[in-house]
Amino acid sequence: MITLALSKGRIFDDSLPLLKAAGIEVLEDPEKSRKLIIGTSRPDVRVVLVRATDVPTYVQYGGADLGVAGLDVLLEHEGAGLYRPLDLHIARCRMSVATHRDFDYAAAVKQGSRIRVATKYTQTARQHFAAKGVHVDLIKLYGSMELAPLTGLADAIVDLVSTGSTLKANHLVEVEKIMDISSRLVVNQAALKLKREPIRALIDAFARAVDAGRATRFAQAAS
Ligand code: ATP
Ligand code: MG
Repeated sequence: MITLALSKGRIFDDSLPLLKAAGIEVLEDPEKSRKLIIGTSRPDVRVVLVRATDVPTYVQYGGADLGVAGLDVLLEHEGAGLYRPLDLHIARCRMSVATHRDFDYAAAVKQGSRIRVATKYTQTARQHFAAKGVHVDLIKLYGSMELAPLTGLADAIVDLVSTGSTLKANHLVEVEKIMDISSRLVVNQAALKLKREPIRALIDAFARAVDAGRATRFAQAAS
């Protein structure tokens, strides 16, 4: 049996076409079913539904053989034993610094002020500001980062942005992009040895599906 860990929502939705291209149909809709383990059209492949931030943990300890996790989550995850063979180019967004539109971030950086930054992504934020030589006090949050600058909890946030509409609705502006984010395939290293053939075949099928998808998008963009 091969177990694939996915999180509900955009990662699940964006993984479906890749699975389909690899010949795997998921047999249930997680939004309608309460099941946490769902079967597929392949009797030897099943999907387990876990929190996005728990995907690397499941794969690291062998609760799942493979998983799909955002780069944002992987950068915060401490721990070895994860093989990352493939960028799936799904759930794409960017990690950025945002502030209230009235806060002068450039001036604060230039003056060398201490900036209070609220984020779920403390490792990534720490590295980013350290590399820039900006002094920050990091405040760890688990959700709704947008609220922090509005309540005076922080001067800035580090969060994921795609369209920017959530920032805009909260009078925030994106002042610095830290990096592009997409989801990656992660594989348990022991599973890769013990179930080498079927796992290799899956990785190759995903790789072909990703390339085909990118070629299609490229052609659409060029036409
Ligand atoms: P939970 O809701 O369980 O706390 P989460 O909020 O991290 O977890 P999602 O919002 O579904 O779960 O995000 C899952 C992954 O999708 C993230 O880790 C990130 O890689 C990606 N992602 C998050 N926000 C966006 C976005 N606005 N656009 C595209 N991809 C995103
Ligand atoms: Mg979310």
